[in-house]
Amino acid sequence: MTYVAPIPTILHAMRVVGGMDDGTAYPALADGAAEAILEEAGHFASERIAPLNRIADKQNPVLRGGVVTTAPGWKEAYQDWAKAGWNALTGPEEFGGQHLPSLLAVACNEIWNSASVAFALNPLLTAGAIEALVAHGSAELQQRYLPSLISGVWTGTMNLTEPQAGSDLALLRSKAERHGDGSYRISGQKIYITYGEHDGAQNIIHLVLARLPDAPAGTRGISLFLVPKFLPDGTRNDVRCHSIEHKLGIHGSPTCTMIFGDEGGAIGWLIGEENRGLNCMFTMMNNARLMVGVQGVAVAEMAMQKALHYARERKQGRAPGEKGASPIIQHPDVKRMLLSMRAKTAAARALCMATGAALDASHKSSDSARTALDRASLLTPLAKAYATDIAVEVASTGIQIHGGMGFVEETGAAQLWRDSRILPIYEGTNGIQAIDLVTRKLGLDDGHCVADEMARCANAAKLAEQSGHAALQRAGTVFAHGLAALQSVLEHWRKANDPSSPLALAGATPFLKLFATVSAGAYLIDMAAAAKGGALADETLTDCCLFMDTELMQAASAVDGILHGADLVLEANLS
Ligand SMILES: Cc1cc2nc3c(=O)[nH]c(=O)nc-3n(C[C@H](O)[C@H](O)[C@H](O)COP(=O)(O)OP(=O)(O)OC[C@H]3O[C@@H](n4cnc5c(N)ncnc54)[C@H](O)[C@@H]3O)c2cc1C
Repeated sequence: MTYVAPIPTILHAMRVVGGMDDGTAYPALADGAAEAILEEAGHFASERIAPLNRIADKQNPVLRGGVVTTAPGWKEAYQDWAKAGWNALTGPEEFGGQHLPSLLAVACNEIWNSASVAFALNPLLTAGAIEALVAHGSAELQQRYLPSLISGVWTGTMNLTEPQAGSDLALLRSKAERHGDGSYRISGQKIYITYGEHDGAQNIIHLVLARLPDAPAGTRGISLFLVPKFLPDGTRNDVRCHSIEHKLGIHGSPTCTMIFGDEGGAIGWLIGEENRGLNCMFTMMNNARLMVGVQGVAVAEMAMQKALHYARERKQGRAPGEKGASPIIQHPDVKRMLLSMRAKTAAARALCMATGAALDASHKSSDSARTALDRASLLTPLAKAYATDIAVEVASTGIQIHGGMGFVEETGAAQLWRDSRILPIYEGTNGIQAIDLVTRKLGLDDGHCVADEMARCANAAKLAEQSGHAALQRAGTVFAHGLAALQSVLEHWRKANDPSSPLALAGATPFLKLFATVSAGAYLIDMAAAAKGGALADETLTDCCLFMDTELMQAASAVDGILHGADLVLEANLS
């Protein structure tokens, strides 16, 4: 089966969740422009990228003589994709970009990643590098590097991780030394560097975190450097790929160990100020975190499409009221699994769209830009962690629907699950996202940011209640209970007044799930209420009602787990 981009579903989310129909917010997407772009993206994804996904899963990148060769057809597909202008979607116009909004980037990234996560990961990191350079790079670095990064002729990487420094970047050891002419010499080893070396780009621009000799210890002593594979005079820089990892999934994407400065020091230039590198990197990481959430949506959507296709073809057992063997889609248990896959995907998509829209609003020069940035910051860990957790669940349900054919590799259902498993790990593990939510994001703007989100959710409950539609009203009642459960935890922690307490840390992950479920549930109500007739109305109402009955229903019991389960965790003895 071939991937088909779910364009009506994506557009509906862009309209209702992202506010795309507000012509003043999104003039560039008006008059069918968004639809036309997504149609084109869908064609490229189905025809050029998706067919390579299985090939690259089997024929992994090879490192020989310092050169990494990707799967057959991979580099040509990337180069054609970049030539078609897809890499330039969001970059600034002065450097050749189209300056289109994040909301559209969320939609397009879903489409690329559904076709192949391993393929789309390369431009995902390039986009992060572009953002960091736009926000913090000197005018000279911007002139020199942005045009080719934006066109996609060059690609970008993110070099944070070292063997002893994963989640904890304070432990980072890579070194940078001032060179007198304004440049720096970088040395050290970085591991797990996505597309650190590959054959699809003419140059690779590494953004590298390293310490200056006189830097303070910890995260306040980290600086960010731009280290190109090829220097401006065309000579090779002192950076090389030492090896590529053998991984559980995303086989098509080379994950490299990179060595900087073996022969005297890789030449690099500072981005932003000395010792403020982590701040610059956060610009890149926030974008990347949202887009990793989008990868989760994408895998879940693809797993659902694949399982649906299989369930229509595979005949086993007699469904109620049928004669003889029926397609398994007719069995209520299989239908339930398929619907739960679709509802969770819709919920995750809504959170990612909302985050993209908040980012867009934060870039406007208006009084509300600051509030919008806080909102994007609050939603980012929800979008990243929720969407990637459900991706693994949905991909696993996809295997279940395939039965034994899911466990063997032929159908591709197993690949989706393997590919999904990295998503909760990279770009800040989901545990780190939950801690970020509890310790930093709840307190944004003195708690007003969360209060605004609770008010939005309360409005959704009201909308359902006043809809005059019995099924939606019932969904609204379940939702209101879930919202009350979330508010009870917030109130409990507000009184305790210490979001960094071990109790809060022990309950952070189930709390993030509760928060994300409620926030997404409110959007499912909005989307169901806004759909006017036809297949979309049927789809959104079913997604909303099923999500309430299966996911929101668990909210009240989640409170016990968050508050009392945390006590148990702290008291338990593991030794
Ligand atoms: C395929 C792949 C691609 C990657 N691409 C890149 C890349 O391009 N660039 C790059 O720089 N890195 C990349 N990474 C690295 C990735 O971002 C890290 O693996 C990730 O940040 C986690 O770090 P770690 O593996 O050291 O795990 P650890 O930090 O050792 O974490 C192990 C476990 O402990 C938990 N934990 C750690 N600290 C805390 C804490 N303070 N509180 C609570 N729990 C905690 C974590 O949540 C996790 O469950 C990639 C990794 C992989 C596997």
